[in-house]
Amino acid sequence: MRLILLGPPGAGKGTQAARLVEKHGIPQLSTGDMLRAAVAAGTPIGLKAKEVMDSGGLVSDDIVIGIIADRLEQPDAKKGFILDGFPRTVAQADALSTMLAEKGLKLDAVIELVVDQQKLVDRIMKRAADAKAAGQPVRKDDDPEVFKTRLGAYNRDTAVVAPYYEKKGTLARLDGMKPIGEVSAAIDHILG
Ligand code: AMP
Repeated sequence: MRLILLGPPGAGKGTQAARLVEKHGIPQLSTGDMLRAAVAAGTPIGLKAKEVMDSGGLVSDDIVIGIIADRLEQPDAKKGFILDGFPRTVAQADALSTMLAEKGLKLDAVIELVVDQQKLVDRIMKRAADAKAAGQPVRKDDDPEVFKTRLGAYNRDTAVVAPYYEKKGTLARLDGMKPIGEVSAAIDHILG
């Protein structure tokens, strides 16, 4: 199964992807996780990406397209995959279409988790305040101000990706504000 999960940061893509990994035995391809690993390892890509990630902006298309192209070549991605956080621009979506076409592969589903952005901001502010109160570190890109920048990047560059797939007739939209179990059930229903 080849699936894309779309939606703004904080919409629950990672949570749903992790569950689908267990259920279908296919890998979650999260460009955010891969970039964070590159930053932690201090690779040249990590060094380039760190500042823009910390500020909440988008890493360049060339870098993330390269990362995904390499990742799709790994043996575990042959059975299928769940893309989480990619594509984030139309250029990335076009590059993915080309990569899949070259391999003779098709997407089974593109699912957008539709959310109320103000409620997401409220949720992130509460999470950050709770973490602070508990003396725990707040992930830098979950800092409320950075989070707002990430939402801005989503609205500017990524919101157009769902209509891109809608035109191709592969998009399903779901209410991502529902409880996790209900969102899970709705996704399972779409995937049949
Ligand atoms: P995420 O965990 O998916 O929210 O990603 C964390 C950060 O990594 C984002 O705020 C971006 O800076 C960067 N990033 C992840 N995926 C992409 C992508 N597909 N295109 C550009 N930047 C990305």
